[in-house]
Amino acid sequence: MNAHDSEKVAGVLLARGYRQVESPDSADMVLFNTCSIREKAAQKVFTRLNDFRGQRGRNKVVGVLGCVAQQEGERIFERAPWVRMVCGSASYRNLPELLTEIEGGGTRVTGLNLDTDETFETEVTRRDNPFRAYLTIIEGCDYACSYCVVPHTRGPQRSRTSAAILNEVKHLVAGGFTEVQLLGQTVNSYRDPSAAQMNFSQLLRAVAAVPGIRRVRFTTSHPNDFTREIVDAIDSVPALCGHIHLPVQSGSSRILKEMRRTYTRAEYLERISWIRAAQRESSITTDIIVGFPGETDAEFTETLSLLDGVKFDGVFAFKYSPRPNTSAKDMPDAIPEEVKSQRLAILQQRQREIQISENQKFLASEFEVLVDGRHESRGQWSGRTTSNRIVNFTSPAQNLLGQYCQVKITGAGPNSLVGEHIA
Ligand code: SF4
Repeated sequence: MNAHDSEKVAGVLLARGYRQVESPDSADMVLFNTCSIREKAAQKVFTRLNDFRGQRGRNKVVGVLGCVAQQEGERIFERAPWVRMVCGSASYRNLPELLTEIEGGGTRVTGLNLDTDETFETEVTRRDNPFRAYLTIIEGCDYACSYCVVPHTRGPQRSRTSAAILNEVKHLVAGGFTEVQLLGQTVNSYRDPSAAQMNFSQLLRAVAAVPGIRRVRFTTSHPNDFTREIVDAIDSVPALCGHIHLPVQSGSSRILKEMRRTYTRAEYLERISWIRAAQRESSITTDIIVGFPGETDAEFTETLSLLDGVKFDGVFAFKYSPRPNTSAKDMPDAIPEEVKSQRLAILQQRQREIQISENQKFLASEFEVLVDGRHESRGQWSGRTTSNRIVNFTSPAQNLLGQYCQVKITGAGPNSLVGEHIA
């Protein structure tokens, strides 16, 4: 989402006549888009800002955007007095006005209002990925997971109208895109605010029906809002990609309750059973936090047994990191750093073994791959299947970038498949 926010911010600047230069050194304006989901990322911002320490009183404008901007607010001006703009993610819609202030010579310009029901709409969005276009359909979050800064930094949940979304998809097709990825912190909580009143699965079907669209992805889904209707839509509409990213966070119902995730292990597994019962094979990926305060060895083992049971296609695992403005920050029984590291290593090793073994079952299968890269040194093309699996393959053909190719799988590793172009 942050990467796409940067694309939209760049679009606002381009529409105002700015142009991209080769390096931050030669820029008149440098904006840092920031992430505060983990402490390390938040600290990095101040290290990077130090590179511009000598800019105070000069013409170069240095600004901080995103979640660290929202979280730290005007304290950023105290720690880095050369910064002239601080704008949180919930206030991006005010960016043109903030830029007008800056261009008029303003210093210490801020956009930190969380009280908003508008989304960030841009006339121009710069697209950095030529093969997959991202588009936000819902911003903010109304959940209150006890470890998460997002409701504080991105504000309340607000959806775009289905008409605005479908219009953007049509423009993307006209610009040559065949694959789109719908984005939201809880993308499947989407509720159309217009009279059309589409829910998420209806929106998926409508986007997939736009002529020229061949692949529709979406991320991130919240298990609580994950319905059978979504599975039915994927089953019956080939353009909807067979990949579901469904963060579980823990395999222990007690820890899930402490995390305020609003579902139990059993309810999560029920959703997995819907996906597995579908006619189309879909890949399932997840996020996991290890070392949440009070997590016992037995509760961690429950997470490992969940991995064994579900056999995820990919897991993004993190050590719990206490964040400001979250209720888990002051919870008792913090887990020592070395225990968190051990648990993370055990979990990653277990998942690696699962992926090695699971990926073997694709040997001799055939997949349609959208080609998005070339490894010259290995003489291979690279692309993704509808289920978002990475396939590296050989082909006698030239210029395959952006093409859909049929590939037969000849090898499998933990994170990717290897194959040969067959048509
Ligand atoms: S659902 Fe929970 S983890 Fe996800 S953005 Fe909202 S508060 Fe954060």
